Amino acid sequence: MSRLVDIENVHFSYSEDGPEILHGLNMTIDEGEYIAMIGQNGSGKTTLSKLIGGLNIPTSGDIRILGRSVKEIPVVERAALVGYCYQNPDHQIFLNTVEEEIAYGPKNLGLSDDEVEERVVRSLEAVGLLKYRKEEPYFAGKGERQKIAVASVLAMEPKLIVLDEPTTGLDWRDSCNMMSLINTIRDSGHTIMIITHNMRLVAEHAKRAVVMSGGEIQIDGTPKEVFRHEDFLSKSFVKPPQITQFWQRVGAPGEPWTVSGDAVRPVREHFEKSNKKE
Ligand code: ADP
Repeated sequence: MSRLVDIENVHFSYSEDGPEILHGLNMTIDEGEYIAMIGQNGSGKTTLSKLIGGLNIPTSGDIRILGRSVKEIPVVERAALVGYCYQNPDHQIFLNTVEEEIAYGPKNLGLSDDEVEERVVRSLEAVGLLKYRKEEPYFAGKGERQKIAVASVLAMEPKLIVLDEPTTGLDWRDSCNMMSLINTIRDSGHTIMIITHNMRLVAEHAKRAVVMSGGEIQIDGTPKEVFRHEDFLSKSFVKPPQITQFWQRVGAPGEPWTVSGDAVRPVREHFEKSNKKE
């Protein structure tokens, strides 16, 4: 896998006299990764992801995308490398029709009308909203608006797509739809970074989880490895999915978030033992 992003000793403050929010972060992202950023509110996840998206620039240190410093990549080009989906889709949607919204970015890239049209069709098809292309973006519920926001980022065909809490405010069905859409996007060759508080989604979908706390990266590993740090996570108010907590207690090996086949045996033994104690 080739290197997509290098985060090198990044410090960040929102203003000159304001507090430092990120304290010397180092991290790399390879092409094709699926990363979940987790940690309590205020730990710096959104701040970091906006720096990666070029929406802010590090106070010191550097972020390189494909080897080039974000400071040197022109804004339009940066948007074609890293797409950032806002937590609230209404911060992103501002045009009159769905198709105008999707076409906006590709037009700014200077693509021909035919190429813009192709991208509009492709990205609306990907999120299942092609038939609504002439509608106003506010036609439907948050799930649909979230998808329009994702489609407008997809239309830029960025290498890395950063999604800030893509399932917040969605019901379970819309959340599942959104996660399966993100899986499809990843399978089509994009690198994914999601910020989420939903540990079940992390366990089920992400391949790597990065825990932030107090403006620093504290743990970085597979979701399975990360959820083993129960003590640290509980201090950071991160609750691993229930089944993971269970495995941690019984010390059983295997995939922590599924119970099937042989893995069921230690579960039964555990309950038998605790029943005897009572
Ligand atoms: P998270 O995404 O983990 O909830 P954020 O990156 O949003 O964390 O916030 C990290 C810290 O930066 C918090 O203390 C927050 O108050 C501060 N912060 C976020 N946005 C701004 C801003 N625009 N101006 C000043 N401080 C901010």
